[in-house]
Amino acid sequence: MISFQNVTKSYPDGTRAVSDLSLEVREGETLVLLGTSGSGKTTTMKMVNRLIEPTSGRILLDGRDITSQDPIALRRQVGYAIQHIGLFPHMTVAENVGVVPKLLGWSAPKIAERVESLLAMVGLEPQTYLERYPSQLSGGQRQRIGVARALAADPPVVLMDEPFGALDPITREQLQNEFLELESEIRKTIIFVTHDIFEAVRMGDRIALLDAGEIQQLATPKEIVENPANQFVTDFLGQHTFQLALLTRTVAGLLDADTEQSAEVPPGQLPDRRLSVRNTFIEAMDIFKTSRRSELPVYHRRRCIGTLSRQQLLDGITTILREA
Ligand code: ADP
Ligand code: MG
Repeated sequence: MISFQNVTKSYPDGTRAVSDLSLEVREGETLVLLGTSGSGKTTTMKMVNRLIEPTSGRILLDGRDITSQDPIALRRQVGYAIQHIGLFPHMTVAENVGVVPKLLGWSAPKIAERVESLLAMVGLEPQTYLERYPSQLSGGQRQRIGVARALAADPPVVLMDEPFGALDPITREQLQNEFLELESEIRKTIIFVTHDIFEAVRMGDRIALLDAGEIQQLATPKEIVENPANQFVTDFLGQHTFQLALLTRTVAGLLDADTEQSAEVPPGQLPDRRLSVRNTFIEAMDIFKTSRRSELPVYHRRRCIGTLSRQQLLDGITTILREA
């Protein structure tokens, strides 16, 4: 979907922000650019919507070189949410979210309808918030509006530069979860920038870990945590390997291979809070804690595919501790 081919960005003062970077972002995936401050994340991202032009190399969007596309038209296909250049302070929430649809010439009723549905989607009651100004919102609400604005014209590609930065940890986690849920419905191709390894592991289908404008490892969160490619990656994970493994290992890895599947359970009979093969160890611990049972059925979609005991989960956790 988005292809970086030997992309380099040097600034006139000699700084090489991005160095010979090659990378494919697949359709429908969330690719996280992870790295410390100054590692080239924002520069990499801004080259996609031509807010920054590469010094050399090519970037293709759907097979077409982006330099052959009009930057304004390009930016309308690419949603953009960032932490700092926030909302337009003199515009209401409705006007802020409707900016791109308006530029695209949508009719007023169509824009109004879209804005309302987006606000509802990001968890803000339209009637309460439509006419407010950004200064009348909390930080978390502003970030929600930023996300809604990026999605407004339903662009196939969305760029998000530390969109949940500058939030307290609780609001941040809540927004991450809501965004993950939203994303599973809308299935966009997303480039997501963060310096936070935990956020990267939660949000990313794959993570590109950058240092000094170069990719140190490009892999799934699980691969990065379990098989760091080099000393830099190991150092970046630092003391967090155990905690991260609790987020990347899933119940699937703990089940006996030869269990029999049940028939599909009718939707009304599925327990709301159930253990799924896709649950991480952290989620599984939580489910065991609230259920107070020592053994629970494990579901894959609507089929029960086995059982997991509390002890098996504890053994799985002990295994990680031994490896660490
Ligand atoms: P990140 O988003 O990972 O924090 P950036 O992509 O913003 O990093 O910056 C990468 C490097 O490029 C940094 O060393 C930064 O100082 C440098 N840089 C960014 N913009 C400019 C500029 N306009 N002129 C010179 N150097 C720049
Ligand atoms: Mg940045």
